[in-house]
Amino acid sequence: MPYAITQTCCNDATCVKVCPVNCIHPTPDEPDFGTTEMLYIDPSTCIDCGACADACPVDAIFPVERLTAQLRPYAEVNAAYFADREPPQSDPTPNFHRWGPPVFHRNIPSDFAPLDVAVVGTGPAGMYAVEDLLLHTNCRVTLIDRLPVAGGLVRYGVAPDHPSTKKIGETFSRFHTHPRLRMRLGVEVGKDVTADELAAKHDAVIYAVGASAARSLGIPGEDLPGSVPATEVVAWYNGHPDVPADAIDLSAERVVVVGTGNVALDVARILTSDPKALAGTTISPAALAQLRSSKVREVVLLARRGPDAAAYTSPELLALTQRDDVDLVVDDHDPQIASTIDAAGPGEKAALLKGIQREAVDWSAPPRHGKRRIVLRFNSAPQEVLGDTQVRALRVTGDVEIAAGRVIRAVGYRGTALPGLPFDAETGTVPHEGGRVRPGTYVVGWIKRGPSGGIGANRTCAQETVGTLLDDAVAGRLAKRR
Ligand code: NAP
Repeated sequence: MPYAITQTCCNDATCVKVCPVNCIHPTPDEPDFGTTEMLYIDPSTCIDCGACADACPVDAIFPVERLTAQLRPYAEVNAAYFADREPPQSDPTPNFHRWGPPVFHRNIPSDFAPLDVAVVGTGPAGMYAVEDLLLHTNCRVTLIDRLPVAGGLVRYGVAPDHPSTKKIGETFSRFHTHPRLRMRLGVEVGKDVTADELAAKHDAVIYAVGASAARSLGIPGEDLPGSVPATEVVAWYNGHPDVPADAIDLSAERVVVVGTGNVALDVARILTSDPKALAGTTISPAALAQLRSSKVREVVLLARRGPDAAAYTSPELLALTQRDDVDLVVDDHDPQIASTIDAAGPGEKAALLKGIQREAVDWSAPPRHGKRRIVLRFNSAPQEVLGDTQVRALRVTGDVEIAAGRVIRAVGYRGTALPGLPFDAETGTVPHEGGRVRPGTYVVGWIKRGPSGGIGANRTCAQETVGTLLDDAVAGRLAKRR
């Protein structure tokens, strides 16, 4: 019986490395690896050895026969990826799972002197860089974070109802006690130490500081009380020290979340979850207490594009469609939406919404009582947040007013400038070449490539940055330490 990869796939390809028959794709050297939403196991080639399940850092892989009812659809999702796959034209062997030639990306001389490298940021990007430095070089690492607790977005970003995704934190934290690593928590670059001081004390500094600010919508009323960025909601339910424990008011029956990325889905899920199901997770106790007395009945997910182009990933939406404690509804306000869903072929994003209830929602009326629900409203862009002293409604495309007591802006994160480093205000990133800002100063993760991609995307990103750093060291481009 083959194995299948399920919802929480982190894409970091740890499983690919251990598969003895190369049946997990796309592999990091295949073209669609950079854009795939998850990895897939070919059921016709899997030999049922279980090596991938043992290696998976987020417990996403199970034997097909042991999939729970909620995860069962992923067996089909895995098989479908290989259904119409042809072997590459250049390869006459009709075997998609042939091994490619070995690739050696790096050449480090045997007399390479150990470097002292500072890594700023303990989230996934920083930790993949640390892993690469500690496992593949003799470098010594100083790991720095402004917060007193390590983990970055794994600790303070991943939703508490995704415990298996949070489990990747265990993979990262085993490096915290590595003999060549020292931790410096509660140290903020730009406040407690300058970039120049760090550079002077280390051969190289890698900044993995992420993108902690919220993108703005740029519409009138955006800053009215009751309109909050999703970054604040995520920080609230994860107990981030920067956000007051009672930051989010749940006294409104209808909440509109602008955006349909995975953060929007996380927020919608948490706000509609039964608090009993969240007890025992890592959710902040104060947030859980507020959820117990929450008045929220309905969360509207507002998408400016259609169901074929929503920003959420298919595994996350599929999981939402499997929930039986919450109704999922598509607002049938535009005939194009139904036709896009009905015409979607297997594997297409819109096809996931086949069979989901459709309803022309009356937005002037309060939400119905009964089961909590999540309403997907496609082809609808936000125009203005309405209200005098407090959010009353959101005006959207076509002058429709959605009566709502809260608006949550889940339109993406944004990097902020770091004192002492160049900054591109347009993209919210630090300009770089292959991760190099200048010899001796490097970036990795969202501050390097912008706020997109899940946890595993940081592994290849870190490999590139560490590779560039090592190239600079080998070529003698790093300045002598002062
Ligand atoms: P995102 O995926 O970039 O989604 C942003 C959403 O905001 C999109 O729906 C976008 O619409 C919308 N948007 C942007 N500007 C807008 C505007 N002016 N008006 C209306 N809508 C607007 O960002 P995210 O949700 O913050 O996620 C960031 C990354 O983290 C993503 O790669 C995500 O997959 C990842 N993540 C993964 C997980 C998980 O795997 N469980 C959880 C959380 C986050 P358009 O699509 O039309 O631009």
